[in-house]
Amino acid sequence: MRRLLVLGAGTAGTMVVNKLRRRLDKEEWQITVVDQSDRHFYQPGYLFVPFGVYSAEEIVKPRQRFIPDGVDLVRGEVDRVAPGGNEVLLADGRRLPYDYLVIATGVGPQPDQTPGLLDGGQWRKSIFDFYTFDGAVALAKAMEGFDNGRLVVHIVDMPIKCPVAPLEFTFLADAYFRQRGMRDRVELTYVTPLPGAFTKPIASKRLGSMLDERKIAVETDFLVERVDDKTLVSYDEREIPFDLLVTVPLNMGAEYVARSGLGNELNLVPVDKHTLLAKAYPNIFALGDASDIPASKAGSVAHFSVEVFTENFLRHVRDEPMTGSFDGHANCFVESGDGKALLIDFNYDTEPLPGRYPLPGVGPFSLLKESEVNHWGKLAFRWMYWNLLLPGRPIPLPAHMSMAGKHPEE
Ligand SMILES: Cc1cc2nc3c(=O)[nH]c(=O)nc-3n(C[C@H](O)[C@H](O)[C@H](O)COP(=O)(O)OP(=O)(O)OC[C@H]3O[C@@H](n4cnc5c(N)ncnc54)[C@H](O)[C@@H]3O)c2cc1C
Repeated sequence: MRRLLVLGAGTAGTMVVNKLRRRLDKEEWQITVVDQSDRHFYQPGYLFVPFGVYSAEEIVKPRQRFIPDGVDLVRGEVDRVAPGGNEVLLADGRRLPYDYLVIATGVGPQPDQTPGLLDGGQWRKSIFDFYTFDGAVALAKAMEGFDNGRLVVHIVDMPIKCPVAPLEFTFLADAYFRQRGMRDRVELTYVTPLPGAFTKPIASKRLGSMLDERKIAVETDFLVERVDDKTLVSYDEREIPFDLLVTVPLNMGAEYVARSGLGNELNLVPVDKHTLLAKAYPNIFALGDASDIPASKAGSVAHFSVEVFTENFLRHVRDEPMTGSFDGHANCFVESGDGKALLIDFNYDTEPLPGRYPLPGVGPFSLLKESEVNHWGKLAFRWMYWNLLLPGRPIPLPAHMSMAGKHPEE
């Protein structure tokens, strides 16, 4: 029996085992997937929980439900990979041998990496995050109780998963306070380590002007050194006081990646950005957020890259060259408040451009432009996630980015 072992049954790991179980002979291949938790969280839903749009129950389901017959789901925490011995050790002492390994344990927020965030006495009192389920639920209460003062939305450093999520939170907060008739009592500030609202110039300009229109102050190039009680302090000694801080802590890969000597300084696995094969080992791949590819850390990237990976993997295990090349394709809806959203579609080489998606002229989604249809697309994504994406069903969207419908000149 040949053994494929997948670490992490989140977005990428679940898609992979579903797709490969259909394609790999059951007599020849054993597939095992490991995860530390038996609940699968729909992370894009965390954005909406603080505004009361989704209840917690709508975004959590039992993990086993998405694992197909013929795949063993092992509940356990990965402690270490021994790449020399082709073996994975779990924290409880179990050992899982493999012939091929897929690392898909994602990234997570690490508030302990910024002095004063977790240990300054304000965590979950006046400092919150929405990048975890518990954080989003706790923040919902804090938002409900907030009736005036300085709300600061803040990113510690890039890369983070879903790099537009903090912007979306800010737009939604603006709309939420307007709907509650108290926007004039809230000072909203967006604090980012980037030189602008987003990583890519055209989108950054568009999103930056949306912050201006909403009278949201922006503090750029802000590299936080520490949090002093209720003040953010940067390395260049700027100070930003807050009453309520919504922060996105440093995002890092799982610690076992570092312990196994497989990661960079953020515990991300260095891979070839087109095949996702680890640079150091010919039988280890890293998919989803866990790798160091210079693409957005997003479910859409996990989806498009898994499509390319699946075909490549089938060739690789036959000792044939991998002919598929992942282009970094990402697309993300950006909620902008009042029932509207934008859509951005881009890859390693092409930044988000205006236009229509997926069909030129027809859309129905508009690129870099607010519309209600985009908002409904964002909400419909939850259904697609549970019913199409995770089970690895075909979705009529090409894995590679297309220039059709895009207008570089606008
Ligand atoms: C607030 C927020 C909003 C987002 N919005 C969007 C969006 O609108 N669109 C979009 O495309 N993406 C969005 N994303 C990003 C998207 O959720 C992630 O990019 C995607 O889930 C990555 O998939 P993954 O499989 O790499 O990691 P995950 O889905 O995070 O899965 C990793 C799995 O590994 C497991 N694991 C980790 N460490 C260990 C260990 N040591 N042992 C065992 N198991 C382990 C975890 O339990 C988890 O199940 C958002 C994310 C957040 C936080």
